[in-house]
Amino acid sequence: MVSIDYKLSGNLLVLDDDKSVGATIRAIAENAGMECRVTTDPAEFFQLESEWQPTHIALDLIMPDMDGVEVLAELSSRGCTASVIITSGVSGRVLDAAGRSAAEHGLAIAGVLPKPFSPAQLRALLAKNSMLKRGNRRRSQGKIAFIPDQRALKDALHRRQIGVVFQPKVTCVDGQLAGFEALARWHHPEYGLLGPDLFIPIAESSGLIDELTAQIIEQALKWYGSNFSDDKLNPATSVSNALSPGLTLSVNISAKTLDNFTFVDRAVELCSFHHVSNTRLIFELTESSTMADPVASLDLLTRLRMKGFQLSIDDFGTGFSSMIQLVRLPFSEIKVDKSFVMTAMSSQESRSVIRSIVELGNSLGLKSVAEGVEDAETLAFLREVGCDLAQGYYIGRPLPGEDMMKWVASWADQMRGQRTA
Ligand code: C2E
Ligand code: CA
Ligand code: CA
Repeated sequence: MVSIDYKLSGNLLVLDDDKSVGATIRAIAENAGMECRVTTDPAEFFQLESEWQPTHIALDLIMPDMDGVEVLAELSSRGCTASVIITSGVSGRVLDAAGRSAAEHGLAIAGVLPKPFSPAQLRALLAKNSMLKRGNRRRSQGKIAFIPDQRALKDALHRRQIGVVFQPKVTCVDGQLAGFEALARWHHPEYGLLGPDLFIPIAESSGLIDELTAQIIEQALKWYGSNFSDDKLNPATSVSNALSPGLTLSVNISAKTLDNFTFVDRAVELCSFHHVSNTRLIFELTESSTMADPVASLDLLTRLRMKGFQLSIDDFGTGFSSMIQLVRLPFSEIKVDKSFVMTAMSSQESRSVIRSIVELGNSLGLKSVAEGVEDAETLAFLREVGCDLAQGYYIGRPLPGEDMMKWVASWADQMRGQRTA
């Protein structure tokens, strides 16, 4: 076997009540080039977390004074951005559940490390972390996390600082480009690029969400229309050959928008202005958003479908009335939540959930999409279970419009290469 000599950077904070485990982790991390501090005391752990700002955390799930799940919840409420490795001697299922709970709390979970572990296992997780976390940091060196408020967001919308990036979606079976999802990004003059989790909730609670959605749809249609409307595509080019016939554009819609009566007409106008057929546009709604006001949702969603728009149920598997909502509302696509997809290779349960969601989608005549595809093995599994479409970092990261066009060109080249081979 070839041994890989990882050179890692960053600082690792360890919380483990077993001193010998802490010492072992420390030796491995320092050997690999990282700085490391170990503590057995939760209070000291949180103090170090805020003062020393570790890039990585290794956390024992079961300790006498505090349980690991509580520590994870506390880390998340502090807006911790470190990559977290969960260690424990408990069974795989419990570790899996803890990993999911932490991911749902918004923490960056690199993986779970069963005890006993080998140095190679730990190094692999530490290495994965340093790659995963880059560019995803909310609290950059020395700066305090920026918590936007309503006024700042209103101002940002007024100044058109909320932009959009695009992430590709491809067919599982042969990799044809099937569409793009538009995702909001705030280009903050002082704090840099901010992700939607930081400002969408404020937009929703302060009545700014409709304006935000309108700005996103407008930008997304402008980009899509100028690159992919029928008159822009030359059927003789390799790019056209790599596109699936009904190339789509997806945008996310918040629950609040479901009581906005003017939304349907606005969407129709925008599509016609940008020469994009309504049938190309997919509105993604989360399961929970359709439950807030079921009657209004049904009205608006039916009107959207009657105008030709497609509807996707997002984050499927995380809500409570999944089945009922799905059957009752006129959806055309079902998106398996990424928490299952990202853990497919390490969790039997996630694989079962994915398999049954895909089957459910098939039986209702919906396109199934898996998002959060991060490796080739997961893509192969999705193909095997008959999932239609895949989206995720393994295929392509969200990119600004111009960069996405470069991505499209190189994806088309790759596909042409495969066909000739
Ligand atoms: P979502 O609709 O579930 O979007 C997918 C999220 O997963 C995106 O995060 C995307 O960057 C991320 N993602 C995609 N592939 C992978 C992968 O392989 N691994 C991992 N770890 N993550 C992956 P993003 O852009 O931060 O968006 C977060 C959420 O914010 C979205 O989740 C959506 O609910 C919301 N959002 C984004 N843009 C808008 C918008 O314009 N309007 C509304 N209402 N919500 C938006
Ligand atoms: Ca979405
Ligand atoms: Ca989703």
